[in-house]
Amino acid sequence: TNFKLQGKVVLITGASSGLGEALAHAFYKAGCKVILTARREKELARVKNDLLSLHPTVPTYPPVTLLLDLSKPEDIPKYASEVLAIHKNVDILVNNAGISYRGDVMSTKVEVDEQVMAVNYFGTVALTKAFLPCMVAQGGGHIVAISSVQGRIALPQRSAYAASKHALQAFFDSLRAELAAANVKVTVVSPGYIRTNLSLNAVTGSGELYGELDETTASGYSPESVANKIVASVAREKEEVVIAPLSARLAI
Ligand code: NDP
Repeated sequence: TNFKLQGKVVLITGASSGLGEALAHAFYKAGCKVILTARREKELARVKNDLLSLHPTVPTYPPVTLLLDLSKPEDIPKYASEVLAIHKNVDILVNNAGISYRGDVMSTKVEVDEQVMAVNYFGTVALTKAFLPCMVAQGGGHIVAISSVQGRIALPQRSAYAASKHALQAFFDSLRAELAAANVKVTVVSPGYIRTNLSLNAVTGSGELYGELDETTASGYSPESVANKIVASVAREKEEVVIAPLSARLAI
């Protein structure tokens, strides 16, 4: 348990796998009231069961799971009302969900660029706008956005992904400046490779699933180590931008 975070309401997007799953464990262990969201109901149920069975001694609040598709922003206000009906407020919003992309610009359909932007950028923006009024009204909160090193540096074959993460960086930098007087903190996290199935779930230029685990994945950080770093930073109420060291194999 972390006395700074104990009892805080934390909503995590993309909590059904990878980094989001690790963040669910880390915030839950800290004593938070976690709300786990994603599209895959079965995976969310698995994560919830793992939280309850793996951390039986945490004097805590039962995790809540909610289905959310970020590519449908029209559903988000209704969804936010459901969340606020359960917990009244959200203290910490962790915008973690995202999809990756593999393809060259010339052979990528515009619909694919739109799909990546819809989830990584517009969905995140809509969700943030849905919870911002309650954070401002309650006089504090913390919004975390999981960007990527590619929110700073664009690699080839990643145009849509890098663009969406650059957009996130700019949006949240602007929001942080706007919120300076409102006591709502904004943290953008820019990790290097993490050992998750992100590339398996990536979309290609023709809109198919990429379906392969990139070789570089193995060189990445464990989701747990990145999650623990993020939770520690939120507990310190720091807006510092957390940048996990780059993978040794990412030649920049
Ligand atoms: P995963 O593919 O394991 O996780 C992605 C998560 O996003 C899943 O839980 C998925 O849940 C959710 N998601 C995808 N599409 C949607 C949607 N339309 N609506 C709602 N949720 C959605 O990969 P990671 O854990 O690696 O990715 C987490 C974040 O970390 C992403 O933002 C990614 O860009 C970022 N990141 C990852 C790096 C890496 O090397 N792995 C490096 C830097 C940043 P579901 O399918 O159930 O909806």
